[in-house]
Parts: sequence; structure tokens; C-alpha cells
Amino acid sequence: MNAAKRHEIFARLRAANPAPRSELKFASPFELLVAVVLSAQATDKSVNLATPGLFRAANSPEAMLKLGRRGLERHIRRIGLYRTKAKNLLGACRLLIEKHSGEVPRTREALQALPGVGRKTANVILNTAFGEPTIAVDTHIFRVANRTGLAPGKDVVAVEKRLLKVVPEEFRLHAHHWLILHGRYVCKARKPDCPRCLINDLCEFPHKSKDEGGGMRAEGKKPGKKL
Ligand code: SF4
Repeated sequence: MNAAKRHEIFARLRAANPAPRSELKFASPFELLVAVVLSAQATDKSVNLATPGLFRAANSPEAMLKLGRRGLERHIRRIGLYRTKAKNLLGACRLLIEKHSGEVPRTREALQALPGVGRKTANVILNTAFGEPTIAVDTHIFRVANRTGLAPGKDVVAVEKRLLKVVPEEFRLHAHHWLILHGRYVCKARKPDCPRCLINDLCEFPHKSKDEGGGMRAEGKKPGKKL
């Protein structure tokens, strides 16, 4: 894909949604950290159902440690892998207090040293809490980047590196949210809604769907598989 097309794709995504936001509910970097850790392999919806009550009970590392494992698990038990997530969150709270005065750190290294925080979670926090132009590649972004030809890559790290290289600077801060939302609601895994896609004429996917009821369909693919 050439640079002019890439620019036009982001110009259209920006025009449609000038200030994209995370769909997770949070009111501080700590709450965002907790919500993102909880959202691994779970829907934002399930996380948003649990976090208002959890944050009323504990919205700081100190308060979450006081809540304890059982107390924390009670709030998040409807979220997948909640036991592991509770253990990781309490470990993260301890480290935040011991090493960062109870604050969420602003560097990738310090974030990734926290239990339950990998590269993607660190990127989301750097971008959404601290305004860094990082791009956290999840399954939606991986799919959109490969299908469209925007930034093809065989795994999420390859796609992230390519996106950071090719996304024009003016779009880098919000690229992550535009691409996630596009993948979640339009360029869906099993049934991309190509007829109502605002970048249809720019997208280089060879198997675009033709209409609502029929036409060609793209099958859902996971990172690591060829699209
Ligand atoms: S045209 Fe279809 S495949 Fe291409 S980005 Fe839009 S929804 Fe996805």
C-alpha cells in the first residue's frame, strides 16, 4: 500500500471519529491498568460490568491490597481467568507501592515488569493514560492491518513495528483506537461489513463482502495465521 492511501485511510477514520476513546471505563491511570489487565481474553463489556463496583471499593494499590484476594475475586468473578488476574493485580499493586510510590510508571520497562502486564497492555497504558504515540496491536488491529494491506506482518510485534513506521505522525496517537474500533465494528473477523466500510475503495483485501446477505465472506483468523 502506498503512503497516499495510508494517509487517506487515517484521514477518513479521523473525520468519522475525531477523538476516539477506549471503551473501557476508568478515571485514573491505576484504574486503566486494572481494567486492561482484566480485559485480557475477555470482553470490554464484561470488564465494564465489574469495574464500577470494584473501583468504588478500591481505586488505589493500597486499597486493592486491603481488599485482599478473596475480596478482589468477588468483584471480578464473572471475568475469564479471574483467579490468575486477581493474583497478578495484587502482585502489581505490591510492586507499585514498593517501587513507584503507588503510581503507575510511565516507561515500558517498568510497566512490563508488573505481573500480568505484557507488551500490549503496556502500549495501551502508555497511549491512553500518558498520551504516548504507541500502537497496541490486538487481534482486531492485526486483522485490519493485514487485510487492508496497511501494515502486513506475520505476528503482532511485526505489525506493531510496521505500523509505527508507516502511520503518518499526525495520526499516530489515535491510530490504535481507530483501528481497534474499525476491526471491532466494521472489519469484523468472520463477517467484514465491506459495503458500509468507509475505506472500502482504499482497502486491498481481495475477498471483500458484497452485501449484507451474501457475497464473499472472509473467515476469522487469529494472529500468526495468513489472512
Ligand atoms: S473493505 Fe472490508 S476488508 Fe477492507 S477494511 Fe473495510 S471491512 Fe475490512
